[in-house]
Amino acid sequence: MKPNRIILASFLFGALCALTVFQIASCGRGGNSQNSALRGGWVSSGGELFKDANNPWFVANTKKVTYCIAIDQESISASPAKIQTLIRKAIGYWKAEFGRFDSYGNTVNPGIAIQDFELVDCRTDPDLRFLFGYKTLATNEAEYLARGNEAIGVAVRTEYDEVNLKGRGFIYVASDRGPFQYDRDDELIPQAWKYSGLLYRVLVHELGHVFGVPHLSRGVMAAPFLEYMLKATNFQNHLEMDSLGSFFLPSKEGYINCAVTEAAAAWFKLPPRWKCLRFSMPIDNKADEFEILGSETANSPVLSLGLARVGQKMPRVMELKIGVIIYLTPRQKVFPKTNTSLQSYMAGPLFGDFDFDAEYTAKDGTTRPLYLRFGPDGYEGWDLQNGKMHSLIYFRRNCINVPALHDPTGTMSMDWRVCPNP
Ligand SMILES: [Zn+2]
Repeated sequence: MKPNRIILASFLFGALCALTVFQIASCGRGGNSQNSALRGGWVSSGGELFKDANNPWFVANTKKVTYCIAIDQESISASPAKIQTLIRKAIGYWKAEFGRFDSYGNTVNPGIAIQDFELVDCRTDPDLRFLFGYKTLATNEAEYLARGNEAIGVAVRTEYDEVNLKGRGFIYVASDRGPFQYDRDDELIPQAWKYSGLLYRVLVHELGHVFGVPHLSRGVMAAPFLEYMLKATNFQNHLEMDSLGSFFLPSKEGYINCAVTEAAAAWFKLPPRWKCLRFSMPIDNKADEFEILGSETANSPVLSLGLARVGQKMPRVMELKIGVIIYLTPRQKVFPKTNTSLQSYMAGPLFGDFDFDAEYTAKDGTTRPLYLRFGPDGYEGWDLQNGKMHSLIYFRRNCINVPALHDPTGTMSMDWRVCPNP
């Protein structure tokens, strides 16, 4: 399925999603609902949402965004140079992700994350301020965050121009050492910002809010993700810079998973001691079949194991989620309302998982049914055993362990989803 067909399919669900925007986005930190309900007032994403509260801070009419960085170095265990690099990389992550779309089914591109970001001095009152450490907060900012040490990171929009659909505000990253460090009661590691991968993910999460991405049920934009990531038992799974994966659409590169279970290795007939399965990605090309490959390690030569042929059916889009939706304020002068079939809303990227019923043919010619679900952050696969769907492979980047209830239909034999190691 080509990306534009995905977008089209996604867009068909747009009206439905618009109805659920409030519900999905209302999962943020509590306590600030009164502030954020004031039009144009301070909003911390994904705070209690109302109308424009979750809009991207910058859309098509904003060409340049100025930002600055303030660091309370005593309480932050990352160097200014490292911080500057990670901010640039996190901005680049979202530019690339939004850049995989054009107009999202609107007649014009909403222009999310298309801006040039220019680093300036904080005294010049830029559009976006990155504040690292408690002492960088002004009195009113510290008061707004109330118990600043209970945040790991937060994006706070302090102004919103309802005519030009432009926001201003700050991203706060908590101190990770000293008296104002984030609350570590829940077994969070100390000095987390000495790990680039962790600080990078905080910046990606908070910048996601700046670009209008609400809290979602899983992955790097899940509300509890940052807290989960800093737990002593989990942080090592999130240290790599490049394992974040794609966000809206499945990765063009396909997936590699080097922590396959013995059962999955046997099912796919991986040679002994080989640990890695690779799936080429069917979404971005027209082929109805895609290849499953194996390798001994992540970097060793690959061997074709078999082909999964998708039936005549189109892939089913499952669990479609709102990526970003822009509320067009009554006073806005940026977009003609005729651009959108959603009345007061303009769709940004939406995304979902794609399900395939496939027939898998191994190299030895044997065939078996294989059910696959691909999403931007991973894939799942099931086979049939005694007439029941049986979980075969499960791979999610930025995963959070969640209990899954027993399937009430009794057709699946999985009751716990454990994050695989990356
Ligand atoms: Zn958040």
